[in-house]
Amino acid sequence: MSPVTNGINGHDFSVESLADKILSRVESKDPFFSLEFFPPRTEQGAANLIGRFDRMRAGGPLFVDITWHPAGDPGSDKITSSTKIAGTVLNYCGLDTMLHMTCVKQTKETIKKNLEKTKNLGIRNILALRGDADESWGYQEGGFNYGVDLVRFIKQEYGDDFSICVAGYPNGHPDSTSYQDDLLHLKEKIDAGGQFIITQLFFTAEEFLTFVKDCREIGINCPIIPGIFPIQTNRSLVQLTKLSKLSIPEEIQKVIEPIKDNDAAIRKYGIDLATDMCRTLLNSGKVHGLHMYTLNLETATIQILKNLGLWCQDVAKPLPWKTSANPERRENETVRPIFWCDRPKSYIHRTQGWDEFPNGRWGDSASPAFGELKDYHLFFLRSRTAKDKLRSLWGKELTSEADVWKVFKHFITGAVNENGVKVTETPWNDDGLSPETNVLSSTLSRYNELGVLTINSQPNVNAVPSTHPIYGWGDKGGYISQKAYLEFFINKHYAEALKTVLPKYHPRVNYHMINKCGTTDHTNADRSNPNAVTWGIFAGKEIIQPTVVDPVSFIVWKDEAFGLWHERWASLYEKGSKSQEIINNIADNYYLVNLVDNDYPADSILWEVLDEMLAASQKVDLGKKSNGVCAENGTQKIEELQIH
Ligand code: FAD
Repeated sequence: MSPVTNGINGHDFSVESLADKILSRVESKDPFFSLEFFPPRTEQGAANLIGRFDRMRAGGPLFVDITWHPAGDPGSDKITSSTKIAGTVLNYCGLDTMLHMTCVKQTKETIKKNLEKTKNLGIRNILALRGDADESWGYQEGGFNYGVDLVRFIKQEYGDDFSICVAGYPNGHPDSTSYQDDLLHLKEKIDAGGQFIITQLFFTAEEFLTFVKDCREIGINCPIIPGIFPIQTNRSLVQLTKLSKLSIPEEIQKVIEPIKDNDAAIRKYGIDLATDMCRTLLNSGKVHGLHMYTLNLETATIQILKNLGLWCQDVAKPLPWKTSANPERRENETVRPIFWCDRPKSYIHRTQGWDEFPNGRWGDSASPAFGELKDYHLFFLRSRTAKDKLRSLWGKELTSEADVWKVFKHFITGAVNENGVKVTETPWNDDGLSPETNVLSSTLSRYNELGVLTINSQPNVNAVPSTHPIYGWGDKGGYISQKAYLEFFINKHYAEALKTVLPKYHPRVNYHMINKCGTTDHTNADRSNPNAVTWGIFAGKEIIQPTVVDPVSFIVWKDEAFGLWHERWASLYEKGSKSQEIINNIADNYYLVNLVDNDYPADSILWEVLDEMLAASQKVDLGKKSNGVCAENGTQKIEELQIH
């Protein structure tokens, strides 16, 4: 049975503004947290930070925010700029993102340009700040002198396009004439359009609760989120308090002094202290959200949130694939080809220029062309700058194709390789093994060992609840089904054997089989229609079919999938080396295959297909040794096979 193809109009893809989301969480007393990061100095730091966002997304932050470094060209296109990092988190890591922005000492034109760029990237949340005003700063009549001027400008130019946050100071801003005066200026920012407040760090719950009470007394009624600074090292504590012109309370100094050179002890103390303070805040009934100053580190923040029960173990997914948080995409993108499900950043990158996404049905050739992968540098950096690490994962020196097969097997099983490291990634997987592939790992490992190099798979599922921990997505109360899917590279010998086996499984099994040049391109699927391989049924809504095997996009994916052998793997080795030759040879001679078992309620038949392929490969007469020849003899050439 094939599911009915419908759009997914019934699904709720409305994009609530961040200010509204915060308000509704506060009103429903549903605690949340947010995470603050600063832009790193180096390109490698930026690439590492992206990995951190991916990991921290798992805990379910309501949003993340990126600080604005006036000295670091924050509005530029540099990989390390505040704007670029914020755009990356939003678009590629799927996290609602707020960008800090300062205004002092800047012209209207620059600020407008920065806001325009921010909006174009899809960012809809700004923390509007004055920034630090040094001696060179003089009051500018009609210019940007205070945070309130930026708030007014954003409102005037963009209306409600941005959610606007402003900064509050529980101990008064150090430049203010008085605590009371500072509160009145804070109220000015709210009256001008600020919708919620994040505070400067503080050391006791009482300081914050008094500040909230004082705000309420003068009519500041918006959400006020405490900025939580976990003490992680003595150095960062001293630096940050100096920067914020705060003094460290004596009781904290007394504990820190004897352990100041012991980072582990300080971190433990900081975690305990912050956990206790946050608990008091949450128990006060006045606080429903925490804003964590992460200092770009994850251990302490995650531990504190875990201690408080705020770190989600199980974040609900709106769709089976990793969604982008860009409002345009979230509203309009409802279906993706399965090929990129383990490389979502690449897919987002290659479709970033699309102003329309295929809706419900994919490849009605209205779909625009895929962009090039050329400037995908942010995510490739890791491989360029950490070649040693990748070589220790994928083989320091390869002697035969069997070494490559072993890498796939190690990845699937999570085993430690001969270099003593776990193979946690391959060129075809951005984020390690997905939980769905994990379910199949022991079976997959058996085939990988024999040279069926799997890069994507999903088991068949027949109407499991949409809350299922592995297969679930979408609203509660729905049911999810999917067809068994398998995608792999095989050598020509296996490809020839598979070709003899597949007719027997028609039409139950759909397949695509293609080589790098596309000169052998076989399929029994309808080339103009995608095959839905995942769908959900939700009460009162049309069937949602978010993942498809699409013949049109498969051809694009084919180039990327083969290209990764060369670009990510072969490039790790010396030019002309044996290792490089082995990888290039695989890319040039192997086939990329995908199989779909359309009978999803029955046990998957795909393993049987592979077993038959292996058996048939023993019989295929190539005038060479059969199964295992490549594994033993590495790059031994097998004559051209005509499998048209
Ligand atoms: P403002 O609201 O402009 O107030 C500054 C001072 O002027 C206060 O003393 C206030 O009382 C006074 N004042 C305000 N309005 C008036 C008025 N109309 N007339 C007279 N006096 C007035 N800095 C960065 O460079 N990059 C960042 O990313 C960054 N992120 C931050 C995040 C948070 C949560 C916080 C709390 C601070 C952050 N800062 C950042 C620091 C911030 O830029 C400085 O603290 C700055 O000195 C104040 O900016 P503001 O917008 O909060 O202050």
